[in-house]
Amino acid sequence: MTERREELAANLARVEERIAAACAAAGRGREEVTLIVVTKTFPASDVRILSELGVRHVAENRDQDAAPKAAACAGLPLQWHFVGQLQTNKVRSVAGYADVVQSVDRARLVTALSKEAVRTGRELGCLIQVALDAGESGRGERGGVAPGGVAELARLVDGAQGLRLDGLMTVAPLTGEYAGRQQAAFERLVDLSTDLRAAHPAANMVSAGMSADLEQAVAAGATHVRVGSAVLGVRPGLG
Ligand SMILES: *Cc1c(COP(=O)(O)O)cnc(C)c1O
Repeated sequence: MTERREELAANLARVEERIAAACAAAGRGREEVTLIVVTKTFPASDVRILSELGVRHVAENRDQDAAPKAAACAGLPLQWHFVGQLQTNKVRSVAGYADVVQSVDRARLVTALSKEAVRTGRELGCLIQVALDAGESGRGERGGVAPGGVAELARLVDGAQGLRLDGLMTVAPLTGEYAGRQQAAFERLVDLSTDLRAAHPAANMVSAGMSADLEQAVAAGATHVRVGSAVLGVRPGLG
């Protein structure tokens, strides 16, 4: 084993232990929570190693970085999640490799994603990104739609050709009433998911929790955690 492979294997084992312990503490089955490894800023060679170590879901947040990486990893048994703020001019590229777009937060994006999904004949999974810190604008600092806008956006995704409504995603807010209260934020997301599933029973994904707060996300009922630095290490440069 190479040094990097050993390092990733050890980190992955530690994260796996954390998820298992959090599931046990919450009285949940381990299979109820899926690990998504956020590989942003790390090279395709790391993605390949992770795939060999059994990782099946990876996430990226910038198309410039993700597109060549996904191309270099074509053929590996991986699901690619896009988790960054998405400009409509990047939709064509992202729709070419993403299996799930977790950052759907406005009607224009739904229209653009649907058009590309139809054009390429690929079904795209969509999560509505919820901004629990959304102010007057109804939008969050780091993307996302205010809770009051979820139902309408979900209806649009559900009615859009080529798109599949999979559920909800959030990033714990740094400001506002949920600042420093990750578990309360994630519980709010799970409540919103309950409302969503009343109208869309299949949209049962709840994506929440990162390296620092995955335990709180599992306790609140998240079905998917997005873990970057705890698996790959400190990110080089921006990310
Ligand atoms: C970077 C990122 C993560 C992972 O963050 P870590 O703290 O490195 O685990 C999760 N979700 C989103 C949306 C991200 O951009």
